[in-house]
Amino acid sequence: MAKITLTNLAHSYFNNPNHDNDYALKPLNHEWTDGTAYALLGPSGCGKTTLLNLISGLLTPSKGKILFDGNDVTDLKTAARNIAQVFQFPVIYDTMTVRENLSFPLKNRGMKKDYIEKRVKEVADAISLNDILDKKASGLTADIKQKISLGRGLVREDVSAILFDEPLTVIDPHMKWQLRTQIKEVHKNLGHTMIYVTHDQTEALTFADKVIVMFEGEVLQIASAAELFERPAHTFVGYFIGSPGMNILPVSIEEDNAVLGSHNIMLDAKYKKLTGKIELGIRPEFVTITNDPFALPVTIDKVEDVGHYKIARARFQDHPLNIILNECDEIKSATTHVIFDKKKINIYQNDWRVEP
Ligand code: ATP
Repeated sequence: MAKITLTNLAHSYFNNPNHDNDYALKPLNHEWTDGTAYALLGPSGCGKTTLLNLISGLLTPSKGKILFDGNDVTDLKTAARNIAQVFQFPVIYDTMTVRENLSFPLKNRGMKKDYIEKRVKEVADAISLNDILDKKASGLTADIKQKISLGRGLVREDVSAILFDEPLTVIDPHMKWQLRTQIKEVHKNLGHTMIYVTHDQTEALTFADKVIVMFEGEVLQIASAAELFERPAHTFVGYFIGSPGMNILPVSIEEDNAVLGSHNIMLDAKYKKLTGKIELGIRPEFVTITNDPFALPVTIDKVEDVGHYKIARARFQDHPLNIILNECDEIKSATTHVIFDKKKINIYQNDWRVEP
């Protein structure tokens, strides 16, 4: 296990990058704490795999340095970095049994037979492969093969880090849920530094201690699931995390009052004078329908039942506003009023959250 330090790390696939947009990864400084489970989360093309491949050594960065426990590994090849990797699709030997596949990374490093047996059993138990240890891999389904790949990634205890690149893509939904929990359990027991790339927020939020939200090559926030929900650092994080995401409304701020159209929304704290693009963020969970005729007037366009809750798709003037309905909320008319929980309001200046 290792602490991984990135200093001014940036990467462009162009030979002569001369603009910010030429970088698939914009300059990043970060220290990945030893033993923490991280998820890299963001939409397709935001730079997750680029960052992962820089850490694994599959790519050499255009700029900056990567240190493992203080040692510069920037120019070291993958094999010299002592990491385990699990990719999107199975990387296993079809002609070997499941046991032989799991043993391979340990045998390769000259581990003792007794230790290999014990360790393979532990991993097989952890991810439910114990019933098929003596089956040939060739006859198994794609998702079981991917499970074996995961096992191969988890089997070495001495690695600096384990890197996962969308490892559950080919796994069926039920097994996906189970495996996610099992990987988390393995992390708890072994305490490896784990970095897990995904574009699925549920996967990221359940797996990771810290989630790194990326957008257009930039890291916008590194935080726990709770922080991402309560205090998104950027409007994109607010919008991307949550289902539906945060409502973002244009306002102006006068100390502890946000002015939205001709309506005043009381805030929980005072803000200094803000200029530029100012917005108020409020999650749909914290918008409540009220009978108060002086509250914010909205028009409800439709109500969607998504199983364990309902979402009202509403509008304040031309601005969309989602509301997660309470059981007791009755929509009697398409025009109604809402209030915001003022403790849950975030204020943004040019897309970045500002502290009161
Ligand atoms: P996905 O979730 O779709 O895998 P991602 O977040 O992992 O996306 P990357 O694969 O890191 O994103 O890509 C980041 C940017 O770099 C994208 O604009 C992509 O088109 C570009 N890119 C990735 N690989 C290469 C390459 N080998 N050559 C040129 N451009 C590339």
